[in-house]
Amino acid sequence: MNQATRKKYRAVPEPDECKGCGRCVRACPKKLLKMGTKLNFIGVPYAVFEGDGCVGCGACFYACPEPGAITVYEIED
Ligand code: SF4
Ligand code: SF4
Repeated sequence: MNQATRKKYRAVPEPDECKGCGRCVRACPKKLLKMGTKLNFIGVPYAVFEGDGCVGCGACFYACPEPGAITVYEIED
């Protein structure tokens, strides 16, 4: 019997578009985003995605005030 393909998601912050506001970190219901320790080209720590269990809700994307700073991708298992 065929098993339906399980969809997985991943959020990818773009370091040099991120302004380090932390809104995506606070918005993620799964606590998968955090502020990193490295600095981007404007000298602020940028958001990083870490862990499993992203549900693709887009809360991080909608919370982010910077166009292009975070993208949610669907990944096929
Ligand atoms: S899409 Fe939802 S679960 Fe995934 S990282 Fe963004 S806020 Fe978190
Ligand atoms: S909400 Fe956007 S600009 Fe703010 S930390 Fe997250 S990715 Fe960076």
